[in-house]
Amino acid sequence: MFEIDTRCVHPSRCSRAAFGAIATPIFQAATFVHEDIGTESEYSYSRMQNPTRAALEARVAELEGGVDAVAFSSGMAAEATLMNLFEASGHIIAGDDLYGGTLRLFRHVSTPAGLRFDFTDTTSPENIRKNLKPDTKAVYVETPSNPTMQVTDIAAAAEIAHAAGAWLIVDNTFLSPLFQRPLELGADIVVHSGTKYLGGHNDTLAGFLVMKDPAIAEKVRFYAKTVGACLAPMDCFLLERGIKTLSVRLEKQAANAEKIAYWLRERPEVKKVYYIGFPDHPGYEVTRRQSSGFGGMLSMEVDSPETARKVLREVKLFQYAESLGGVDSLITYPMLQTHADVPEEERLKRGINDRFLRISVGIENAADLIEDLRQALES
Ligand SMILES: *Cc1c(COP(=O)(O)O)cnc(C)c1O
Repeated sequence: MFEIDTRCVHPSRCSRAAFGAIATPIFQAATFVHEDIGTESEYSYSRMQNPTRAALEARVAELEGGVDAVAFSSGMAAEATLMNLFEASGHIIAGDDLYGGTLRLFRHVSTPAGLRFDFTDTTSPENIRKNLKPDTKAVYVETPSNPTMQVTDIAAAAEIAHAAGAWLIVDNTFLSPLFQRPLELGADIVVHSGTKYLGGHNDTLAGFLVMKDPAIAEKVRFYAKTVGACLAPMDCFLLERGIKTLSVRLEKQAANAEKIAYWLRERPEVKKVYYIGFPDHPGYEVTRRQSSGFGGMLSMEVDSPETARKVLREVKLFQYAESLGGVDSLITYPMLQTHADVPEEERLKRGINDRFLRISVGIENAADLIEDLRQALES
C-alpha cells in the first residue's frame, strides 16, 4: 500500500475510467438505459449512484480506511442523513464545542424528532463515560473542535462508546485523512464537510459519511438514496480534483499556520492563541499520538472588541468570510457567523466572545500573511 500523499493522487481501488481518461469523466446523466427487461445494470438512476460519484466515494473510502463512503450535497446533508439511522429514538452524547450548524441540527431538528442529546466536554474521556445512558446510541465528536481547537482522544472515546454498545462518530473535517484517520483509531463513522479541505478551493459544497462496518454502510446507503441529498456529478468531479492536491495544499497550510500561530502569540494585542501545535496546548500529547499534523486552523482572542473589528476591516489578504480549508486565507467572527445561533451564555462559557476570531490559513506566502495581520493589528 502506498503512502497517503500518493494515494490522494492514485487510489488503488479506482478502476481506470472510460477510454483511459486520467480524470474521471463527469457523467452528467440523471438516468441510465437498461440493456434488457429484468437485467440489472450497474447504474440506473443518479440519486442511487452515478459513475463519477462512485469513483469519488471509492477514493474517499480508501483515504479514510473505510469499507464505503457516501457523498452528499453538503456536510450538513451528510449529518442530517446520518441522524435518520437512529430512527427517532435514543440518546447521543455530543461534544460541547461543535460546528454551529451541527448544534442547530441536533437541537432544532433531531431533538424535536425524538432524539435526546447531552453535550459535554469530550476532551475528558471520563465526561463521556459519566453521560452514558442505557439507550446511548452514539458519541459524536469533532476533533479538533470548531472553533476552540479542543482535542478528543479518539481511541479512548471509541473504547467507552463500544463498551456501552454505542458508535463513535467523528467529524474529521479539520485535519482530513491526510493528518488523521479516526476509523483506524476505533471510530465507526467519519463525517466530513468536503466543502473544506477535501474540495479545498472554496468553490463547491460537499459532505461525506465514511463507514467501517458494511452493515452500517448499507443502512447509510438506504437513507442516502431515500432522502436524496446526493452530490451532483460536476461537484463530484471538483472534489476528486481537489483531493488530488490535498497533500500539497494542507502541508503548506499547516506550515503557514504554525508560523502565524507562533507570531501571533508574541503580539501584545493578542491575549490567547488556540492552536493544537503548541506543546503547551492541553491536547498536544493526544494530537501527537493520533494525528500526523496540526492542520491549518487556529483561533485567537484579541484584547478588545475594537481590535477584533479593526482586524476584520483592515486585513487585505485574509478575507472576512465563513468557511475554511480552502487555498484562500479566511478570517471569521464566530460570534456573528458560524456560532450566531449558539445561546450567548454557552458561547461565552467556551470563550467565543466579541474578541474571538477564527483563522483558516491558506496557501499564500507566510511572510505576506503575517505582514497582513501586522498592518491590521497596528492600523
Ligand atoms: C462546515 C462544517 C460542517 C458543515 O458542512 P457544510 O459543507 O457547510 O454543510 C460540519 N462540520 C464542520 C467541522 C464544518 O467545519
